[in-house]
Amino acid sequence: MRILVTGGAGFIGSHVCERLIAEGHAVAAMDNFITGSPANIAHLRDNPNFEFIETDISERCDLDGPLDAVMNLASPASPVGYLDNPIATMRVGSHGTYNALELARRAGARFLQASTSEVYGDPLEHPQRETYWGNVNCIGVRSVYDEAKRYAEALTMACWRTYGLRTRIIRIFNTYGPRMALNDGRVVPNFVAQAVRNEPLTVYGDGSATRAFCYVSDLVDGMLRLLWSDEHMPVNVGNPSEMTVLQFAQAVRAAGQPGCTSEIVFVQPRAERISDDPQRRRPDISRARAILGWEPRVSLEEGLRNTIAYFRKAMSHA
Ligand code: UDP
Repeated sequence: MRILVTGGAGFIGSHVCERLIAEGHAVAAMDNFITGSPANIAHLRDNPNFEFIETDISERCDLDGPLDAVMNLASPASPVGYLDNPIATMRVGSHGTYNALELARRAGARFLQASTSEVYGDPLEHPQRETYWGNVNCIGVRSVYDEAKRYAEALTMACWRTYGLRTRIIRIFNTYGPRMALNDGRVVPNFVAQAVRNEPLTVYGDGSATRAFCYVSDLVDGMLRLLWSDEHMPVNVGNPSEMTVLQFAQAVRAAGQPGCTSEIVFVQPRAERISDDPQRRRPDISRARAILGWEPRVSLEEGLRNTIAYFRKAMSHA
């Protein structure tokens, strides 16, 4: 198969490219490096099954030749990434998704849209099932990401209804692992980098907000199962092991042993960073289990060990 991965130089996109190539597929990756990095795909550049096109899919998403699938992963995805690039985030969710869908339609390819748990906003239903419509502040600072992804889902469904395009929608919950950008500001890179430097771990507020963290290889596994399935309705993919941010800080400190002397400190970040910060988040993965036969396998301990090892190396190079 020949598969296009938009956002292929991003954290998740680069793992998707790597996995597809390992399975024997040909991969075309597109990225404009707004938040992705050439380093994430450097090891794939010489592979004859890998081609890279530097482009902003909000402007242009064209590819010659046969195409079996389009995986639309292009977007800033961390709160710092989309708060720093609000218009680009809205454009890639809207124009970019439109261009990627059009390419899939012209090529007769199936299409997978990377969506997010952020479509649920600060959820009033817990854990979140796919049937929940969400609680999003449409004019808040996070809306540039949340509403762009909600629009992308709506457009994807419209193309399924109108053209009979074989579309898939994955709602990705918090994911972590090697190749997260050191400075992307999310809780995992922040805590892991702080632990590697033996600096204090910065818990925002009182640390009582909850998240559930999925290791990247588990996520990619679920994503590819969905791509090759016949399911056009959204499917949550994430790890249901919910914990508070404070508990997560303690887990990172433990994974940094022996030798991690970081303390945990409670800080107030810039206001927009925690404005509309969802207080609780945990996926209901009943549909992923039933439809895809998927559930996460990598424990938090193992995933954090791998992530810390990657950060140690990346930070020593930096
Ligand atoms: N957070 C924190 N310290 C940090 C970075 C984030 O306590 O250094 C908190 C943040 O306020 C939120 C949670 O960790 O409650 C997850 O934030 P993240 O930026 O990773 O992504 P989100 O899940 O909000 O998209």
